Amino acid sequence: MDLGISGKRALVTASSKGLGLGCARALAEAGVDLVMNARGAEALEAAAAAIRSEFGVKVDTVVCDVTTADGQAAVLDAAGDIDILVTNAGGPPPGVWSDWDREDFIKALDANMLTPIALMKSSVPGMIDRGWGRVVNITSMSVKAPNPVLGLSNSARAGLTGYVAGTARQVAPHGVVINNLLPGIHATDRAVSLDQGVSKAQNISMEEASAQRAAGIPARRYGTAEEFGQTCAFMCSQHAGYMIGQNILLDGGAVLATF
Ligand code: NAP
Repeated sequence: MDLGISGKRALVTASSKGLGLGCARALAEAGVDLVMNARGAEALEAAAAAIRSEFGVKVDTVVCDVTTADGQAAVLDAAGDIDILVTNAGGPPPGVWSDWDREDFIKALDANMLTPIALMKSSVPGMIDRGWGRVVNITSMSVKAPNPVLGLSNSARAGLTGYVAGTARQVAPHGVVINNLLPGIHATDRAVSLDQGVSKAQNISMEEASAQRAAGIPARRYGTAEEFGQTCAFMCSQHAGYMIGQNILLDGGAVLATF
């Protein structure tokens, strides 16, 4: 399918690995020029070089922590006028409800609520002026079904979801489309670190921990960054213009809900 976005320019934050990289690669495949970001230079430059050589698009890189004000200024400065924004950052650490103090919540809110909001507030006015824009926020399945050990994620992402629900309807008249993409368990470094938590807590091997988590998914497997990226690219495409303020769940059927 021609996504109709060849020649457009996208900022994809936290995109040297995992789901962010899957989104960057799928957009590049559709002919979109990219600004990619991560804290570690080595993996970021390697990912950018691979994308340039495979898809022939322009890729700029910004090494910074996107959850800081300086990091946000750096990515926005490098990005300039963008048509597409995909927001992403690392997820908060696991624990139980009584583990977290105010500082832990502030950190999670900064990373998974206030950073995407700041990036939208800076990028969307230009999209409105140009009459076209797409924003996809990578959130989590935990927005629909709380993960008991990810209370910080449940809380921060719920806040972002509320903000997007109202904002998407305000910018839609100007051709700007904002939606959230909710990963269930995907085979990335993040999934490995959560497998490690299960392995440690239950004193089982990593293989057993991963098999146990996969057994709870109707698709009986973890998702891939490639299929996640293709869904993101569709949500950034010309064809997604009537999809406003939605929360698209990619979880292999893990959330047991009719809607
Ligand atoms: P991942 O494999 O750990 O990759 C994270 C990527 O983000 C890396 O490129 C990392 O590079 C970059 N990054 C992390 N923190 C950053 C920061 N502060 N500033 C800039 N770049 C940063 O993670 P993932 O599995 O793709 O997950 C992406 C998001 O989806 C996370 O918020 C995660 O909680 C959420 N999620 C994932 C799953 C899953 O099963 N994978 C499920 C639900 C939700 P550097 O480390 O070099 O910065």
